[in-house]
Amino acid sequence: MRKNYNFSAGPAILPEEVLLTAQAEMLDWNGTGCSIMELGHRGPEFQAIAAQAEADLRELMSIPDHYRVFFLPGGATAQFAMVPINLLAQNNKADYLVTGLWSKKAQTEAARYGCIHVAAEAFEHEGRLSIPDPSQWSLTKDAAYVHYTPNETIAGLEFQSVPQTGGVPLVADMTSMILSRPVNVNDYGLIYAGAQKNLGQAGITIVIIRDDLIQEPLARTPTLYHYQLHREHQSFYNTPPTYSWYITGLVLAWMKKQGGVAALYEANLRKAKLVYDVLDQFPEFYLPRVERQYRSIMNVTFNLQNADLTEAFFAAAKERGLIHLQGHRVSGGIRASMYNAFPEEGALALATMMTEFAHEYAQSTREARKVAK
Ligand SMILES: *Cc1c(COP(=O)(O)O)cnc(C)c1O
Repeated sequence: MRKNYNFSAGPAILPEEVLLTAQAEMLDWNGTGCSIMELGHRGPEFQAIAAQAEADLRELMSIPDHYRVFFLPGGATAQFAMVPINLLAQNNKADYLVTGLWSKKAQTEAARYGCIHVAAEAFEHEGRLSIPDPSQWSLTKDAAYVHYTPNETIAGLEFQSVPQTGGVPLVADMTSMILSRPVNVNDYGLIYAGAQKNLGQAGITIVIIRDDLIQEPLARTPTLYHYQLHREHQSFYNTPPTYSWYITGLVLAWMKKQGGVAALYEANLRKAKLVYDVLDQFPEFYLPRVERQYRSIMNVTFNLQNADLTEAFFAAAKERGLIHLQGHRVSGGIRASMYNAFPEEGALALATMMTEFAHEYAQSTREARKVAK
């Protein structure tokens, strides 16, 4: 058993059971006498793993038959380019909802390939991040697609409903929330997600795309960036990241055992509530970063009203095995990432520590005031 709770935003915690299985199978996968990472990607062993992972993902997300699923290298960042390269050949206009660093990066990359319009931007109101009401978005009627990031990982800003686009295909970067809550795949033209947050190990990215959106890409773009090619070769045009694919397969099987997305969602809500409740209980001590209605259930972000105590907070957390709570290098502050694999006991341990830390601080300020008098 591990002795700490890892709140890392990504690469993130994996289910212990998955790591133990990977360990047990490391030297000899299923009687082959080889590690799975030593077996050919076109051999029957790896082909079976690949097919099972896709079948499990399709089952967990109820992916309809007219959607293709790809397992690709390059991270979500490669999709920032692949999406416009493949979807802007016929119509070069697209809308982006920019609600944080990742959607900004996606928009900046897309602008190299087409006419990209920012239809809405997150804003700060009384120190809290928020998303404009949809009535204020300026969507383009004849755009090729609308891109958004359902959960902005760095700020912990999460859409609580699916943007309405009037029939324009919706593209979603689900890297930090895929399988954390139920989604209706039919609402989307394309979904992509890097694996290292909710899905497995870095190195592999899932793309779920409606078949009719796969078209001739822009001219003179790298072969490996064509969705058409990946459909034709079922993600096996060249050597895929086999070990990452295998780990993702183990995570998907683990998710099924947990009761699927509905059960994971319930657990995720409970975990997030434990921590948000403490933030709300001590408003004079903790400062949540995000407006209540857009609070992420994956990445809880906050500052201390007295920022000088931040290092003491990390030290107190570490003493209890609560690690990697540091906010992203661009935003600072505190961020507790609690993806699917993060255990509920860890959320409870953090909430308890935060309550005690706030009490302890309140007492020491009272004493300091007394001394000052
Ligand atoms: C982490 C993250 C990315 C970056 O993924 P890479 O695999 O490093 O390219 C992109 N989008 C979101 C929403 C993320 O959380």
